[in-house]
Amino acid sequence: MLSGIQHISFCKRQWALIHVEKQWVENVRTIEGQILHEKVDDSEFTEKRKGLIVSRAMPIVSYTLGLYGIADVVEFISTEKGENSTTLAKHKGFWHINLVEYKRGKAKNTDCDKVQLCAQAICLEEMFNVKIETGNLYYGETRHRLEVVFDEELRNQTFELAKLMHYLFKKGITPKAEIQKGCKMCSLVDICMPKMPKSSAEKYFKTAIYGDN
Ligand code: SF4
Repeated sequence: MLSGIQHISFCKRQWALIHVEKQWVENVRTIEGQILHEKVDDSEFTEKRKGLIVSRAMPIVSYTLGLYGIADVVEFISTEKGENSTTLAKHKGFWHINLVEYKRGKAKNTDCDKVQLCAQAICLEEMFNVKIETGNLYYGETRHRLEVVFDEELRNQTFELAKLMHYLFKKGITPKAEIQKGCKMCSLVDICMPKMPKSSAEKYFKTAIYGDN
């Protein structure tokens, strides 16, 4: 799934726990993120105004990345014919594509959100045979749109992470934990690094099997 690229960019082990081992734990951040997306996605929906078509919760796919997912908001803006414009089956003229992905919190000092947006842009480029130069991340806490440029470096990073996802998935590998600052915010911390009791291993297993009695 395309959304996994954000997880693997943050932590390879977190991605594998979710997507290889199918483990998931909610915390305040994950619930807030879900609520924000429910508001945005509001089922598949298209809105049309003069010179603008807004598509919400659009299914997207890239065969070169081998990823599929949902784009929160895809805006089609009426424009002139050119390298960065596309045609649409049911609408006349030429259209420029602008992507907006909604995120809880505020802009991060990592590329996690940017690679996810870039992967979405690559999907749309393949689907509409168009070049997409930029997109936007909208942060719920700061109510701010951050423009992201899909330069060569970000595109290469996105392809490398997609390759890594396929490799780990095929081999069923969960990488070892690498403790980092982000572990404090990770909802999977207790699964990733269960706290061992101070007593003996024998007592731990007895308690796990027979309970406290
Ligand atoms: S606790 Fe840290 S190492 Fe473990 S999955 Fe989360 S971020 Fe990765």
